[in-house]
Amino acid sequence: MDYWTFYEGKFNKLSVKELAAKVSLPRDIPVSSYSNNLKARLWSARLSTGVFGLTSCVAGNRGPKDCSEVILGIGDEGLNKLVALGFIPCPVCHPEKVDGFWDAVKEAVSQRYGITSLEMFVDKDVLPFDSRRVEWEEILPVVEGVPSRIYLPRNLANDDLLAFSERFERIGFKLPAVGYYDPEAPGRFVEYNINH
Ligand SMILES: [Zn+2]
Repeated sequence: MDYWTFYEGKFNKLSVKELAAKVSLPRDIPVSSYSNNLKARLWSARLSTGVFGLTSCVAGNRGPKDCSEVILGIGDEGLNKLVALGFIPCPVCHPEKVDGFWDAVKEAVSQRYGITSLEMFVDKDVLPFDSRRVEWEEILPVVEGVPSRIYLPRNLANDDLLAFSERFERIGFKLPAVGYYDPEAPGRFVEYNINH
């Protein structure tokens, strides 16, 4: 299993073993438990949801994991990159509770959103779940693939869906299944039908 991981100014494809060396941990520790007591902390972003958090996150670890589903960032540099790419903090593992989080990201958050407090940055009424916010133009050419599905807000108009589909085409990729989260639905996902 390899992961596109941002450090030293670019995305690098790292195996789990190489990641373990980077974050100075023994090789036999699974990547899902890297999030605590790191010399350099590892952050994880899920492309399908546009959310980032800790690599130990239960919600983040649900669903498929490969290099077109999850990207990683090392240390403050990697964290800032995930913020700049449009990912918002996970409401399950609360990456914002890590010591020094706001100091590390406040510049990037203010630049991207004009938001000047941590409370507003994590408020899903201020920045709702919406994977259209993700910088797909930068990410897709790096990971050379699309996630298996993408979560969008509920009640989008067909024109909004068409625009998103055309955006992917312009980057050179076919839009995967898009839909919205519904706890009642099978797989908790309701797929949109786009009328072209
Ligand atoms: Zn999480």
